[in-house]
Amino acid sequence: MVTAGPPVGVLSLQGDVREHVRVLADLGAEVTLVRRPEELARVRGLVLPGGESSVIDKLSRGFGMREPIRAAIAGGVPVFGTCAGLILLADRILDGIVGQQTFGGLDITVRRNAFGSQVDSFETELDVPALGSPPVPATFIRAPLVEELGEGVTALARLSDGRVVAVEDGPLLGTSFHPEVSGERRFHQRFLDVVRAS
Ligand code: GLN
Repeated sequence: MVTAGPPVGVLSLQGDVREHVRVLADLGAEVTLVRRPEELARVRGLVLPGGESSVIDKLSRGFGMREPIRAAIAGGVPVFGTCAGLILLADRILDGIVGQQTFGGLDITVRRNAFGSQVDSFETELDVPALGSPPVPATFIRAPLVEELGEGVTALARLSDGRVVAVEDGPLLGTSFHPEVSGERRFHQRFLDVVRAS
């Protein structure tokens, strides 16, 4: 059964906005494209898409969205970031471009483009105990890695060598990979469950 709402937004400055909108709408959310503070004020949760974090950073400053997003995160609004979106949620970034900023909120250090040039895109299956079975099909595209996790941040998924690729801290959720392009809906469902409960 599809129930109405909740109203959630996808930050629509750059990146794979449409893919997120499709998954969220399929799960019954009322989805708004967020480019302006007024649009952000209308939603109860926000998705930061994959794309290019340095571009989304610059555009968010240009559109006057940086401080409203930081205020929303500080106020406990649930936010789900994938790939570039995870970078934007991180308190600390390694290998960013000169002057690159993040919104922050998640007490983690991410390394941008962590997988090097030959293998900067790959697909794999991940065990994500919090989501149960089956394993998650995960698409990595010039993906970041989570290199340090602060207290209170949970690692939700790891590569077979132990490196962390999905994290959660209360209302903040982030993945190095793109569930929105692999047909995986359980992360978006988890985000919507948190929005509904908030
Ligand atoms: N490498 C990109 C960045 O730095 C992220 C890539 C992605 O979102 N697929 O933002």
